[in-house]
Amino acid sequence: MTIALKDSRAKRDRTPVRRVSGRGDVLLQRTLKSPIRCAGIGLHSGAKIDMVLKPAEADSGIVFRRTDSDRPVDIAASWRNVVETRLCTRIGLPGGPSVSTVEHLMAALAGSEIDNAVIELDGPEVPVMDGSSAPFIFLIECAGIVEQPVARRALKILKEVEVGNAECFVRLAPASATTISFDIDFDSPVIGHQKAEVRLVNGTFKSEISRARTFGFLNDFDKLRAAGLARGGSLDNAVVVTADGVMNEGGLRYDDEFVRHKMLDAVGDLYLAGGPLIGRFHGHRSGHHLHHAALVQLFADPTAWRWAELPASAAATDSRFAATA
Ligand SMILES: [Zn+2]
Repeated sequence: MTIALKDSRAKRDRTPVRRVSGRGDVLLQRTLKSPIRCAGIGLHSGAKIDMVLKPAEADSGIVFRRTDSDRPVDIAASWRNVVETRLCTRIGLPGGPSVSTVEHLMAALAGSEIDNAVIELDGPEVPVMDGSSAPFIFLIECAGIVEQPVARRALKILKEVEVGNAECFVRLAPASATTISFDIDFDSPVIGHQKAEVRLVNGTFKSEISRARTFGFLNDFDKLRAAGLARGGSLDNAVVVTADGVMNEGGLRYDDEFVRHKMLDAVGDLYLAGGPLIGRFHGHRSGHHLHHAALVQLFADPTAWRWAELPASAAATDSRFAATA
């Protein structure tokens, strides 16, 4: 039997925010207008999962709720709750239940600027849908978005933080807006070296990143399945790479879909910080493990970051993600 555990650690590290009422000078937190439901399969478990995205009160953050036990169990979407980063990002409670593959949904919530939501799941994994964030963006848009009378807060990077080594690394650096850049180098003529950079302003996540699907090599699928992973993987939810092309009918959604998916993963993993990032992220052949390690290292140094409100006026330049001074 599972005992309901409410994790409040993510809440504890939230600094108090200024109440704003009828003022238009700072951006406000946002949640969903109404609940919305979908069903799909888990990429790694292969299990059929029902998921409901629900509105949540201001300052409650993103919370995953496992509903498949006697009493629901809440797991805050926080870097503090990450329990595994192999192939996907899994969050969980010590000795308790967990939720795998949160990153594509977290990326959609980040890209849609949703601060507060409850994600109910009746299984151990977020449905993979088509392997990208686009179906989640669609769900959020169908549910609608409402502002809440509390200032939004963002994580402003004050000092450069780097984790990894020369082969694979992540660097977070101060900047006046949110920029995600990434480069990958695969020993595959189909992928090869790809480099991309996107400034997260005015819906660029949706247009430039959200449709990029997860990918894998045909040769690796058998190995993953033997390890009990990727049981739900198929051409419906992943780009499958062969020696000389991709197996998916219709080909790629972006010419450089592979590096764009890596950026999507980074956006989702970084949203486990508890708010949008104001700074520059660069990933060099990195993955979930280093994305998480970068947040751990950042939060370990209280002088490397601070929470900041976001100006809503025209002076905020071009984005809900523009930084405060
Ligand atoms: Zn991914």
